[in-house]
Amino acid sequence: MNVPQAIRNMRGPGQLVLQWQDGEHSLSHARLRGACPCSQCRAARLQGGISLVRDDVRVLQIEPQGYGVQLVFSDGHERGIYPWAYLHDLIAQS
Ligand SMILES: [Zn+2]
Repeated sequence: MNVPQAIRNMRGPGQLVLQWQDGEHSLSHARLRGACPCSQCRAARLQGGISLVRDDVRVLQIEPQGYGVQLVFSDGHERGIYPWAYLHDLIAQS
């Protein structure tokens, strides 16, 4: 499986930097919050309920979960576990 070699959380600019074999890629914290894969957020997106994500939302904590990372956001949301493949897809789409 494609697993990043390193992850760096840059709270100032709000970027999560992932070091993959093919180089370094970053995802903004707001983008990650908007793409939260938890069941609650998925359901909201499927129903077309696009919740507004504040630009200044930040990732406060990264909890390794083996197959990915759980992200704890500054708005209190911490249900999303982002599998590596999902993060890779988000980067590919950006
Ligand atoms: Zn969520």
